[in-house]
Amino acid sequence: MRSKTEKALVVLSGGQDSTTCLFWALDRFGHDAVTSITFDYGQRHRIELECASNVAAAAGITNTCLPIDTFSALGGDALTDSGISVDGDTGQSTGLPNTFVPGRNLIFLTFAAAFAYRRDIAHIVAGVAQTDYSGYPDCREEAIQALQNSIRLGMQMQIQIHTPLMHLSKRETVELASELGVLESMALTHTCYKGARPPCGQCAACELRAKGFAEAGIDDPLLQANDVHS
Ligand SMILES: [Zn+2]
Repeated sequence: MRSKTEKALVVLSGGQDSTTCLFWALDRFGHDAVTSITFDYGQRHRIELECASNVAAAAGITNTCLPIDTFSALGGDALTDSGISVDGDTGQSTGLPNTFVPGRNLIFLTFAAAFAYRRDIAHIVAGVAQTDYSGYPDCREEAIQALQNSIRLGMQMQIQIHTPLMHLSKRETVELASELGVLESMALTHTCYKGARPPCGQCAACELRAKGFAEAGIDDPLLQANDVHS
């Protein structure tokens, strides 16, 4: 399935995982074949959009930012609702963290497929992972595969959704970035749930990121760039 002539679209959030996926796609499909898409879904931390734009610029690719303002209207999650703390629980019986935005990945990938449809793009690359997946059910392989089938049927297109991080731990994701020679670009990424830059180092997202770099035995370039010592 490896092809240097087919086009690929990377769903780029500006985070560590999607940035690693972007460079994975450049390595696999070739520079001229890759573009990225970022969703402005009303996230509280606008810095994510800035990071996505910076990552794409550093990679020398075209990034398109699409607005989807429905999630914040739905409310109820800590990533779009400033009235909810990222540290609290949902008060619901789902057992999911309150940073879960229901259906977010499903919507993103569906819009990405619609974007790809008229542009002759056959491959979508997403940074979802079911290892260390923070409890988000739409990051699981089964959910992504079912969605891929739905898109193939519903849009009548042979789209392939690639999830190179699906079975990687955070440590292995850091190692992949290292193997691709793009660790430096991690300084451009954003992970912190609190939107802090330099990162807060305390939230679940910061802790997971720190754990990955620590286990890989690699210093996080983001912390070095901000001269933070943890
Ligand atoms: Zn944080």
